[in-house]
Amino acid sequence: MKQVEHALIVGGGIAGCAAAIALAQAGVRVTMLERQQEWRFQSSGIFIYHNGLAALGSLGVLPQIVSGGFAIADGRNIYLDERGEPITDTYYPSRHPDIPPIVGIRRAEMHRILASRLELLRVDIRLGTTAVRIDQNTAEHVTVTLSDGTTGQYDLVVGADGIRSEIRRLVAGPLEPVYTGLGVWRSVHTRPKDLTAKIMMMGAGKRLGIMPISDDQLYLFGTLPEPAGQWYERAGWPALMQARFAAFGGPARQFLDALSADSEVLYTAVEEVGAPLPWHRGRVIMIGDAAHASTPFMGQGGAMALEDAVLLAEMLSRDVDVESALRAFGEARYPLCKFVQDTSRKVGEAGAQEDADIINTRNETMRRTAQRQVHDFYARMDVLRSQLPLAQSA
Ligand SMILES: Cc1cc2nc3c(=O)[nH]c(=O)nc-3n(C[C@H](O)[C@H](O)[C@H](O)COP(=O)(O)OP(=O)(O)OC[C@H]3O[C@@H](n4cnc5c(N)ncnc54)[C@H](O)[C@@H]3O)c2cc1C
Repeated sequence: MKQVEHALIVGGGIAGCAAAIALAQAGVRVTMLERQQEWRFQSSGIFIYHNGLAALGSLGVLPQIVSGGFAIADGRNIYLDERGEPITDTYYPSRHPDIPPIVGIRRAEMHRILASRLELLRVDIRLGTTAVRIDQNTAEHVTVTLSDGTTGQYDLVVGADGIRSEIRRLVAGPLEPVYTGLGVWRSVHTRPKDLTAKIMMMGAGKRLGIMPISDDQLYLFGTLPEPAGQWYERAGWPALMQARFAAFGGPARQFLDALSADSEVLYTAVEEVGAPLPWHRGRVIMIGDAAHASTPFMGQGGAMALEDAVLLAEMLSRDVDVESALRAFGEARYPLCKFVQDTSRKVGEAGAQEDADIINTRNETMRRTAQRQVHDFYARMDVLRSQLPLAQSA
């Protein structure tokens, strides 16, 4: 990559690790900063749909992700009501025979796989380090002072520093995350051997999902409205999760009953960020949640971060100047990421506003429309992805 010899990545989450791998694979020398003193990732699980898996393929880690996680080869998603009675089934698509429609994996395992790839590519990882000063005095370089006191010159700075991004402040000015009024409760359990599909249980104003994440584990993820500014003592999370979803039976019941003070439970208040374009200033760009943190209802935030990373490296390898590539990257990604955010928000809001009276009508509508909605969502993503500004000139 002629114009980018040395890149600095700020943030070592999904977006940062993926960008570091993609750039290093393209021959760029990469330094990656991670504020945490040691790799310490929220556990529980994550599911990655086919588009995110394709990006992981480009990063050279798809086989490891598939074997470290749990692939649902036919993409089956079973919708049940809160008692466990069937509503309908849908099937997530894949776009390639070698890429499963969906894989569930422990977040820590996914990170371990990305970290091994970084090591193999000799990315210079600085844990416990952040950028304290970023100067763009010339058009050719960015001068960055790190928290360890050193100063260096980089041809590119990638802000992959998550929803509370400091790089975003530099690029787009103050833009705080917005609370959505919804909370997510997650817990990890032993997987019964016969639980091999993704299951979504539809309560009134509540959802409870079950997703295998390895040969022997699965995770539960439950969403519902939660008051703004509410803080719950961590020790109380298992009991709170149990109480929130007490009405749920069917396949979730055994896992809810098993929750105890020792259980691995996480609570997250759901926030969003939608930074307007441009996503870059000079040679500094933001990707992943820093630019477009989404609600989790379409399960696409991680996949969007992975796609960002792969496309960024691809666009920078084209024969255009760095700023044009960064501008084109933002213009290409913005409509797709906004579509995912908007769809996800609508799904979350619609779910939260339900009351018991409309459940029968909702279930009837789902039987008629759920598969079409899955199809339309991914078809629209394909269209938006095909409209890349530089794609035609590649
Ligand atoms: C409840 C919930 C469930 C979700 N489920 C799914 C799912 O199933 N599938 C899916 O695809 N997506 C899912 N997502 C979205 C997904 O988790 C995020 O989109 C993804 O983690 C974003 O990655 P990121 O690297 O941009 O940000 P982050 O994961 O937030 O990583 C940012 C990293 O930067 C570091 N950092 C921050 N500031 C600095 C700094 N100043 N200097 C150095 N380092 C810094 C942080 O420590 C962190 O390691 C979910 C999100 C939520 C909230």
